Amino acid sequence: MDDSPIPPTRPCPICGKPATPKHRPFCSARCAQIDLGRWLKGNYRIESDDTPDDPDADR
Ligand SMILES: [Zn+2]
Repeated sequence: MDDSPIPPTRPCPICGKPATPKHRPFCSARCAQIDLGRWLKGNYRIESDDTPDDPDADR
């Protein structure tokens, strides 16, 4: 029978360790925080690096 309540865990994208159901897809809250920090950093960088509101950029 296909009786598997727990889905197969993927490795943590941060450190590569097996992810835990509690913090998936990460292995721990720490790795989740690291990923979140990276994501936010990237977002901020894109916002400050790319300025589409340039009045001179008409073309
Ligand atoms: Zn991890």
